[in-house]
Amino acid sequence: MASAFRFEESDGKIGLLTFDIPGQKVNTFSEAVLGELAEQVSQLEQRTDLKGLFLQSGKPGQFIAGADLGELGALVDESCEQVAKRIAIGHELFDRVSRLPFPTVALIDGNCMGGGTELVLAFDYRIASNSPKTKIALPEVKVGLIPGWGGTQRLPRLIGVQHAIDMICSGDPLTAEKATTLGLVFDAVPFDEMFNEAQRLIEQNSDNWEQDRKLREQPLGLSEDQLNFAFLVAEGYLKGKTKGHYPAPLAALKALREGINLTLEEGLAVEREVALGVIGSPVSANLIGVFFKTNYLSSNPGADLRDVQARDIERVGVLGAGIMGAGIATAHARVGIPTALVEVDNERLNAGLKSAAAVVESRIKIGRATQQDLAQTLGLLSGSLSHQAFADNDVVIEAIVENESVKTEVYGQLAGVLRDDAILASNTSTISITRLAKSAPNPERFAGMHFFSPVDRMPLVEIVRGEQTSDETIATLVQLARRIRKTPIVVNDCAGFLVNRLLMPYMAEAILMLTEGASMDAIDRAATRFGMPLGPISLHDNVGIDTICFAGRVMLDAYQDRTVACPLLDEMVEHRRCGKKTGLGFYSYKGKKGKAVDDPDFLPILDRYRTDEREFTDEEITDRLFLPMLLEAVRALEDGIAAEPTHVDMSLILGVGFPPFRGGILSWCDTEGAGAIIDRADTYVALGKRFEATDALRKMASQGERFFPNINPARK
Ligand code: NAD
Repeated sequence: MASAFRFEESDGKIGLLTFDIPGQKVNTFSEAVLGELAEQVSQLEQRTDLKGLFLQSGKPGQFIAGADLGELGALVDESCEQVAKRIAIGHELFDRVSRLPFPTVALIDGNCMGGGTELVLAFDYRIASNSPKTKIALPEVKVGLIPGWGGTQRLPRLIGVQHAIDMICSGDPLTAEKATTLGLVFDAVPFDEMFNEAQRLIEQNSDNWEQDRKLREQPLGLSEDQLNFAFLVAEGYLKGKTKGHYPAPLAALKALREGINLTLEEGLAVEREVALGVIGSPVSANLIGVFFKTNYLSSNPGADLRDVQARDIERVGVLGAGIMGAGIATAHARVGIPTALVEVDNERLNAGLKSAAAVVESRIKIGRATQQDLAQTLGLLSGSLSHQAFADNDVVIEAIVENESVKTEVYGQLAGVLRDDAILASNTSTISITRLAKSAPNPERFAGMHFFSPVDRMPLVEIVRGEQTSDETIATLVQLARRIRKTPIVVNDCAGFLVNRLLMPYMAEAILMLTEGASMDAIDRAATRFGMPLGPISLHDNVGIDTICFAGRVMLDAYQDRTVACPLLDEMVEHRRCGKKTGLGFYSYKGKKGKAVDDPDFLPILDRYRTDEREFTDEEITDRLFLPMLLEAVRALEDGIAAEPTHVDMSLILGVGFPPFRGGILSWCDTEGAGAIIDRADTYVALGKRFEATDALRKMASQGERFFPNINPARK
């Protein structure tokens, strides 16, 4: 097999080591590659005649992508000794690199990530190319790990504690320019000048490179006050941000704090010990799984569209400027697509345009957009009260009230206006696309394009295929969704499609428990402890009780054997308690800044639907919320609504913020074990069929199978 490393030597006794794994797009450190590097290092250790060594990547614009995540994720099934061995391999090897008998320079061009950054930290000097593609990061915490090959100890000794904490605990990348400012690289220069620059660096430091090395092996010598100042704030911030669900950033912080005042050797021992606590953990395996699933979606959105040509889209229309319509129109205008927004009256149209401006303004506040972006977005959004505004549109997205007869009536009106080849897509949350298609101008050019609230933050778009939807329509909407920087997932038609079919049982169970005596607070707290960004009661208020009520009726019609009716919600709508948008829902939002506060007027309404006053444990609330969701996910997969388990897991993560550290709802089942899940569901089965496990799931449990036999869905 061809080697991953190539060694050459210049006349001036400079060694050049090129890392270039044959047949791979990026360089990664698998165990085999580390073995090859170790062989190279063994030879280099004998070369006392060399004046220096340069390391470069043989892949233009791609330096080193880091450790092989597939191998790291698989460590979840290994013993503690195996994990320790894996950590030690990198540690010992990079340590040997740091002791080579000549000065070393890494020439970084392109992405330098994780283990790649840890390797270059073991070099004496680093030079970066000033290409915008050059990004240097230690992103381990994003997949539940810590930099465990020396990163937590070598980085603070190079750039100082505060910057090291920022870089390691956020996992965010540095540009070449920023890396230079922090002293992580000596300089950022054009690619062609890197070699000469490295040579100059070696010459300039011919007398002091060994001394510099020794200095970086010393303790940092920070006082207790300095340590407290640096770490207490970071710890408080990270605890708030991770809410006990993501241990890696705090583990990294611990390794930094406990290691930096020791010698490098002792610090590295601390790092190894701390790394053992997170590497190979279920949280890390799940986060690595989400990383692979995300990559998988970019080539497999849930439909095989490789031979289908998507149509070019120049103009888009959006009907309805409510919560969703305004957000959808803004998402298109923000990426430069001229978008027509149509409403029934000026007041609602202006409110929609105002909320479009608010989306960009909020991004300006956090430095992610400029006044120019705002002007450009608003310039591309045209408001109208007439359907004629859609006459030249390639795609029109309908986002009016969730009411089938209103929607179908409007489709009839649009038939005379839309271009013959225009695609009409509905943002309906629940209504059958196949049924709606019967009233659409052309059922082949009709599909669901289901966004999630708030549109500017939720990345998912469910593309729903009706019985007659053409492949071209699906491919075009998939491409359009990607263009507006969303992640499309193609699903087949059924009531609720994929996400709401799974979310609605969870929402309804929350209301049922409320009427049985659980407090709103206890229900929401159990859900957020599980890792949901928002509890189901607050989510009702955010989405809109009227919208959920209508969706609930659709679900009840379609899945009568297992759907819970919620008459309490109907009465809330009668009282105009539609949630945040009317200022009243389960909570009141009429106070300062629209914050949720308890509303005594709600209690008499709730009391009319109370069936019990009993206490609930956290565990019971969690089971009752998530088991029906999981069992419905299994049914939806068996019904072919989603193509594969990956699409189920990612739909909930991207659409409703299901906790990524659990890997998704089906990964949660894998983590708990299908057998254990079924045992728990069986204890609730007297409550209704929604707690009944399917035969296929029982079979899967009895055979010890999993939804994800491999952490990377691309490797089936
Ligand atoms: P909304 O009540 O905030 O907005 C609906 C808007 O449609 C209103 O402004 C109304 O004036 C307008 N409208 C009604 N009839 C119209 C017509 N004939 N022509 C033009 N405009 C008309 O509702 P929403 O929450 O934005 O929901 C819209 C659609 O999106 C629904 O189908 C809903 O199920 C779906 N949806 C909602 C959410 C959510 O979280 N709210 C999420 C996903 C999908």
